[in-house]
Amino acid sequence: MTFVTHLESALDGTHFDAGRVLTVHQGRPLWVRYDLSRVRAAVKPADLHARESSLWRYRELLPLPLASAPVTLGEGMTPLLPCPRLGAELGFAHLLVKDESQLPTGSFKSRGMAAAVSMARHFGLKRLAIPTAGNAGGALAAYAARAGIETFVFMPEDTPAINPLEAHLCGARVFLVNGLITDCGRIVREGVDRAGWFDMSTLKEPYRLEGKKTMGLELAEQLGWMLPDVILYPTGGGTGLIGMWKAFQELRELGWLKSDKLPRLVSCQSDGCAPIVRAYDAGQRFAEPFANARTLASGLRVPAAVGDCMMLDAIRASGGCAIAGKEERIIPWMQRVARREGIAICPETAVCFDCLEQLRHHGKVLPHEQVVVFNTGAAQKYPEVLAVELPRIDKDQPVVYESLL
Ligand SMILES: *Cc1c(COP(=O)(O)O)cnc(C)c1O
Repeated sequence: MTFVTHLESALDGTHFDAGRVLTVHQGRPLWVRYDLSRVRAAVKPADLHARESSLWRYRELLPLPLASAPVTLGEGMTPLLPCPRLGAELGFAHLLVKDESQLPTGSFKSRGMAAAVSMARHFGLKRLAIPTAGNAGGALAAYAARAGIETFVFMPEDTPAINPLEAHLCGARVFLVNGLITDCGRIVREGVDRAGWFDMSTLKEPYRLEGKKTMGLELAEQLGWMLPDVILYPTGGGTGLIGMWKAFQELRELGWLKSDKLPRLVSCQSDGCAPIVRAYDAGQRFAEPFANARTLASGLRVPAAVGDCMMLDAIRASGGCAIAGKEERIIPWMQRVARREGIAICPETAVCFDCLEQLRHHGKVLPHEQVVVFNTGAAQKYPEVLAVELPRIDKDQPVVYESLL
């Protein structure tokens, strides 16, 4: 049994039967649609309290048929951490960080892969392949290992070193490509035809989005079925942002939200790779590929995204915006947030804080508003970014304690 009614083209609304393996329609993504009146009758928000603390608590709003067991590493229910010290400095009374770094494999990519690999196993897929800017490869490798499915991972050769290593550790066949994620994507597309791979790219299969949607469901539940005024989200391929927006629509239609007011979504990118910001500023619905994409925030190094129109539609419908943070401010923001609040944010989220400061400065986010920034990954996954020369101590020399006063 499942509450899914059908899948629907994001481009032209064409319906597809949910019972078979699906990818894209005319190169554009598919939405999973649910019978929300049946969901409403089957489950009430209060029923969730008794359920496990993982994204599978929202089972009726997920695509996996109830009779199929999920592939799980215990993902979900990440903390929503108040940041009073940092908030006071930046001029916000209600600043919160939703800390996705605490998920398996250290990033929110686990949410998407938990759902997508569960569906892949349900459909009996045997060989999965992915182009990735980094964290998605590690997450896919872990969930595929858990499911016993063979995996092929392609990533840019200058991806943070931990990403290929964690994927290799989990038994994936990992390849380093002297190009960008878009080049890796082309290699995977060819392998689909020639080697019988199934393409697990962002939005090329419909279920990663459903897993990422649970960020929005969880946020609403943690805030007592209210939503914040503003959400800042680092956007690369865009599934996080698009998924959350879908979650909010579904919750509103279910009648679970205490207020109909939805948050303004802010898509944050680095000025080293900001195709969505450019398209937003130019009033366009589709983004031009961003030339010479370069950023320490490797998850944001996505010069062209198939979900660009879905992102831009969601940002505009929410009354939010797309804005670029400064590349050279990434490391200072990582240090500042970690030092003020003890939260080790990833470079992608550091970009969000630079955007937040700009928005505050321009009066686009007000001091009393409730602001949620997503920490999409763990700083610990970026040792190259954190690298620093530290003082050394010779064990045979006396330590001059007075110099440390
Ligand atoms: C992938 C990734 C992003 C971008 O997420 P999308 O949903 O693809 O836009 C942001 N931060 C981190 C740490 C990531 O791994």
